Amino acid sequence: MSLETTKQQDAQYLMHTYARFPAALVRGENATAWDEDGKAYIDFTSGIGVNALGYADPAWAAAVAKQAGTLQHISNLYLSPVTIETAALLCKVSGMQRVFFANSGAEANEGAIKLARKYGTDHYGERHCKIVTLKNSFHGRTVTTLAATGQDAFHHHFTPFTEGFSYAEPAMESVKAAVDEDTCAVFIELIQGEGGVHPLDPAFIKALRDFCTERDVLLLVDEVQTGIGRTGSFFCYEQYGIKPDVVSAAKALGGGLPIGAVLANEKCADVLGPGDHGSTFGGNPVACAGAQVIIRRVSDPAFLQEVREKGAFLRAALEKMPQIESVRGLGLMLGAKPAVSTPGELAQKCCEAGLLVLTAKDVLRFLPPLTITKEELQKGLAILAHVLQDA
Ligand SMILES: *Cc1c(COP(=O)(O)O)cnc(C)c1O
Repeated sequence: MSLETTKQQDAQYLMHTYARFPAALVRGENATAWDEDGKAYIDFTSGIGVNALGYADPAWAAAVAKQAGTLQHISNLYLSPVTIETAALLCKVSGMQRVFFANSGAEANEGAIKLARKYGTDHYGERHCKIVTLKNSFHGRTVTTLAATGQDAFHHHFTPFTEGFSYAEPAMESVKAAVDEDTCAVFIELIQGEGGVHPLDPAFIKALRDFCTERDVLLLVDEVQTGIGRTGSFFCYEQYGIKPDVVSAAKALGGGLPIGAVLANEKCADVLGPGDHGSTFGGNPVACAGAQVIIRRVSDPAFLQEVREKGAFLRAALEKMPQIESVRGLGLMLGAKPAVSTPGELAQKCCEAGLLVLTAKDVLRFLPPLTITKEELQKGLAILAHVLQDA
């Protein structure tokens, strides 16, 4: 199919919910993708932070294929050894106690929100169900996770939204003012990804952890984007020196297959009981077989060390570019603010030139596969430098 035909059929048969780049991708290997005409693209997006091991990692693909050819799904009415093993691995690498499997980031966050409300109402009564989130946050696209998202732009069209959310600035004064006697949880990202790659202040996070513990308000951390090695530690909270009560994960956890997870600490491990929550696909054996490959590979200290090194290399290269004003982020989750053109226009030009990049608010956003090679990084950076020069 020609690109024009593909675009026309996309417009004909799929709802127009996405502004797509003009590239029809059909194949990939590590951090390189190819379109229908055989044109190569260096991938600095990993499908929005999903393909932790790049495209078509042989071990991941083999594990997924083997599970698909053995037992693809059994429902949560029966015991699934591959699912249990995946949860055990997640607990081992995170220090959390128990896992609920969902199928996406928004769904994992829904689970975290339900858990927090149940904890609050179990311990303190019916009214104790309010949750404070942060301004400029992003927590998903369901009606409830949109309500949790602290950006007015997401609060149109779909009223009435779920009640009980209020939004604070990422500062203790503001959080203290927002938390009242009916608050059961504070729900945050450690680096606001969709909000423009803004890492939160470690001193604020430490103070917030202490405050939540004192008030018996749960601290929920949305690690859907920052988790699974993205920032150079398995979870980002490790680098902040805190332990959340509940963590949500998704994106990279499946390495390209849909999976989400809610991880609870000891205090929260038994909040959700029989009938309180569920999912038909949650803990799907094929997704879990892939996730095991991801968790084992990414939790290796040598692998995480390489992520930090590649992150430092990418950051230094971006900081050297005269058209880049500033760089923020952690590990291989970086945002670069251009001094020329706009992130949207630059991303478009990069795509035409054979480089896939993301944008978030005022920055070009980089979420390359964690396995990207130095050579692929250099190739991508060379394309970006050209695009910036011409802008
Ligand atoms: C992507 C993202 C989500 C939503 O995940 P989906 O899988 O698209 O539902 C939620 N929170 C954060 C921080 C994200 O980056």
